[in-house]
Amino acid sequence: MKETVVSGIRPTGKLHLGNYFGAVKNFVKMQYDYNCYFFIADLHSLTTHPTPGDLHGYVKHVLVEYLACGINPEETTIYVQSDVPEVAELYLYLNMNAYLGELERSASFKDKIRSQSDNVNAGLLTYPTLMAADILIHKATKVPVGKDQEQHLEMTRTFGNRFNRLYNTDLFPESFAFNYSENLVKVPGLDGKGKMSKSSGEGSCIYLADSPEVIRKKVSRAVTDGGPTAENQPKPEAIQNLFDLMKIVSPADTMAHFDALYNKCEIRYGDFKKQLAEDMIIFNSPIREKIEELSKDTSYLRQVAKHGALKARESAQKTIKEARELIGFKSF
Ligand code: AMP
Repeated sequence: MKETVVSGIRPTGKLHLGNYFGAVKNFVKMQYDYNCYFFIADLHSLTTHPTPGDLHGYVKHVLVEYLACGINPEETTIYVQSDVPEVAELYLYLNMNAYLGELERSASFKDKIRSQSDNVNAGLLTYPTLMAADILIHKATKVPVGKDQEQHLEMTRTFGNRFNRLYNTDLFPESFAFNYSENLVKVPGLDGKGKMSKSSGEGSCIYLADSPEVIRKKVSRAVTDGGPTAENQPKPEAIQNLFDLMKIVSPADTMAHFDALYNKCEIRYGDFKKQLAEDMIIFNSPIREKIEELSKDTSYLRQVAKHGALKARESAQKTIKEARELIGFKSF
């Protein structure tokens, strides 16, 4: 039997190349090897945005983009978290046995106390129990998350084990972080420093939905320098970043060509950037076209969300039924 994987996707906006190569590409491959549940974490988003402007719009955006990237709703279960009320029910049960001290020790809670000191709500404090509910509801054993989420996963194991101990059961397995891909890619941004990220500014990110004109403009403005002055000199960060991006989207010989020019001090950044932009456009175009097509197909999206919710609820209801019986809820 295939192992179960659960992963949450925050409805925070458009996907960029960093999200694609760092996460979504792996999800697409993973869905054939594991029993995957991918959910759009709209309940989680209330912890930071209690009155989100257009929550449904954000959720739709994420759904469209994941489908456009190749998430196959027949192969995997993709659903909207709030469509599965069993998650909220398990969250409630787990909260009964989650203690203030351990929740307060969570690094992400400490961060949030600082970053949104005007709204330190109970949802923020119990974020780890909601995350545990997301994972335990499907009895997942693998969760594709980064280092920053390791502490939350440890708490998930604590809550699951505690439930098992209290109710004398082995209902919940332990779940662990895992990297699907051996070599984790870090996609750099266009601003000359660090990784591609929304927080480093619009200009630094290439979104999957960006039009060719937008891509050309962003790449032409990417940070460079005066050019190499000695043969085979090491590349400064801004230039290395552009080469790293080229490595991701361009054929190997294109990159080798510009690398050789750089080493001979003959590179012209204008040509280099033009090539990079065109290769990004070639990569992006099929996804962008699919995004445009799917965005208009409301009835298909409705069908996917409904089908996903049904499959997720089937699994969730089984777990909740068992949990209820173990706790002692009985119907008259
Ligand atoms: P975020 O948009 O920061 O919530 O990230 C969503 C997912 O995309 C996470 O799994 C990140 O590790 C991945 N990701 C985001 N930015 C990058 C990047 N520049 N390079 C590689 N992976 C990234």
